[in-house]
Amino acid sequence: MSLAHGRPYLAIPGPSVMPDAVLQAMHQPAPNIYEGDIVTLVEGIVRDVKRVARTEGHVAIYIANGHGAWEAALSNLYKPGDRVLVPATGRFAHGWAEMAEGLGLVPQIVEFGTQSPIDAARIEEILTADTAHEIKGVLFSHVDTATSIRNDPRPLRAALDAAGHPALLMADCIASMACDEFHMDDWGVDVALTGSQKGLMVPPGLSFVFFNDRAKAVRAQMPRVSRYWDWVPRSEPEFVYQYFGGTSPTHHLFGLRAALDMLHDEGMEHVWARHATLARVVWAACERWSEGGALKLNLADRSLRSHAVTALGVGIGNGQKMRAWTAENAGLTLGLGLGMATEEDPHGTGFFRIGHMGHLNAHMVLGAVGVIEAGLQALQIPHGKGALEKAAEVVAQPEAVAF
Ligand SMILES: *Cc1c(COP(=O)(O)O)cnc(C)c1O
Repeated sequence: MSLAHGRPYLAIPGPSVMPDAVLQAMHQPAPNIYEGDIVTLVEGIVRDVKRVARTEGHVAIYIANGHGAWEAALSNLYKPGDRVLVPATGRFAHGWAEMAEGLGLVPQIVEFGTQSPIDAARIEEILTADTAHEIKGVLFSHVDTATSIRNDPRPLRAALDAAGHPALLMADCIASMACDEFHMDDWGVDVALTGSQKGLMVPPGLSFVFFNDRAKAVRAQMPRVSRYWDWVPRSEPEFVYQYFGGTSPTHHLFGLRAALDMLHDEGMEHVWARHATLARVVWAACERWSEGGALKLNLADRSLRSHAVTALGVGIGNGQKMRAWTAENAGLTLGLGLGMATEEDPHGTGFFRIGHMGHLNAHMVLGAVGVIEAGLQALQIPHGKGALEKAAEVVAQPEAVAF
């Protein structure tokens, strides 16, 4: 007998759970990719995905995962030898910096560890000292998916402004977009990236680079840009074929159309509030478990936590055991610990992550929390009591439970 039969729940931080409406929308024959309905489909998607990023700027869409968006954004703006500043609060800024290095750029990593957000004052100091304006961009993760740290873009904008520095502010919003509140234009972000498979609830395979007129002007100064990554034809196409540098990702577009309809029918403010509340449901349980137990939230300060993913320490070896137990016994797949290796635990087996992004509601998150409780009991991992009660309290009265 196994209690894992039934609808599985993939609670890793991407790919996220896909709505049936998205999957059903994809189940149809391919359209003509040169003319007809595809034109209005793509135009509508461009309009509505910009509403998710809260920008009136431009967007280029790539048939790529998030790594592709990283490379695309850098390829349009920087030449070999250009310097970029990369404040790091986990694994993902390092990944973007590695991508920059591969393109011949010179990334300067500013390390903030795995438990602190970016200190904008430190960034301001570095920018102020760069009087020759050799730094061409500041690359950061809005949410680092490994540590679950959320970095507020606004202090970084303020740091650039205070230093009078012209570098572009570039946000990796791959884990956060359509989960955590984000206003590209109002918050002064010049370039923002995301992928289809997290908050956007679509299969992996599409990515998006949003850019404003400042970034567009920098692109215009580039001596040459890889034809495939070039965002000019993709954002100002003369015909529909150019949006994607070739054949459109037709079925991803059908799915994305359905997902954007769902997001905008709910309303972005409500989508953000739902994520914030469901995150508090998870935290309420985690905070109880951690009382007198082995379990530890990576971030004690709630204001620094992502609303899309939660990273937890549970003792060497136990993260791995928990993931195996919940998948085998309850149909719940949790995320593995990433970027958390220490000398005592070189493979990060003491961590796991709960993805709570995208197509989620209270019953799913309470289910996940209940399964984790069962796993802690079955594996006899010491944990505080009352987690489920506290989680249910947040669902019952989201406003009343103090956070
Ligand atoms: C998932 C993720 C990426 C990588 O995206 P892929 O689609 O796996 O290439 C990059 N940055 C962040 C913050 C992410 O969460």
